[in-house]
Amino acid sequence: MTSSAPGDRRGAVVIEDDLDIRNLVCAVLEQGGFVVSSATTGREGVDVIRQQHPMVVTLDIGLPDIDGYEVLRRIRNTTDCYVIVLSGHSDEMDILTALQAGADDYVLKPFRPRELRARIDAMLRRPRIGQNAQHPPSRPAAPAAPAPTDDVPVKSANVLRNGGITVDGDARIASCAGVELPLTKTEFNLLYELMQGNGAVRTKEELVRVSRGGDYRGYNFVSRTDERAIEVHIANLRQKLARVDGGPELITTVRGVGFRVVPRATD
Ligand code: CA
Repeated sequence: MTSSAPGDRRGAVVIEDDLDIRNLVCAVLEQGGFVVSSATTGREGVDVIRQQHPMVVTLDIGLPDIDGYEVLRRIRNTTDCYVIVLSGHSDEMDILTALQAGADDYVLKPFRPRELRARIDAMLRRPRIGQNAQHPPSRPAAPAAPAPTDDVPVKSANVLRNGGITVDGDARIASCAGVELPLTKTEFNLLYELMQGNGAVRTKEELVRVSRGGDYRGYNFVSRTDERAIEVHIANLRQKLARVDGGPELITTVRGVGFRVVPRATD
């Protein structure tokens, strides 16, 4: 088993019990420049992820021991890596359950290698930064700026605020009343997009494209399941906000259309 150096080369873990699919996914990731490890059972996959802190995980749902949902539950407390579920189930409920358990994206089997590659490329354009101090980002640090002191907030061109909610698009950190929110990459992207709207409605279709990183190179079809997936991501995001946010609901549903943030008075 290959061991990847966090912060140096990009690590990926493939959890898949089908040999042919495993080889295919490993090849796609290796072509993408990842150091790839694989596991054939759910428990082994959890162990490998905990040891290697990968940037990306591809996760089969049907595994011989614990299923992919259980793998997600076990890893989501300790890692914010990007998880793509590779599901043989075209049942919408299976996909939504995986997203509820913390997956970022899904690809249905059988899939074309090009499609998986497009999803990974979209993800890499928006690297997850600064959300987990234990696992430093692999991209080089920004040019040195004067060291900030603890009590003077650093002004950045890319910081959105709404009441006590702050979303820093450069550092990719979202916080509420000074408490950092433990968001997945997709949740962060959706919150950032809604905050940018500053009260304007974003349709579910728009948000699907946001969750895919904008450019999707030929995979721009938005299915009903994709839109339902957005509802699940938003529900997860609301739950995380509600744990620290004492204010009225930040994200409201515009029935039949999409979502918007409710502008708040600055404190
Ligand atoms: Ca399987």
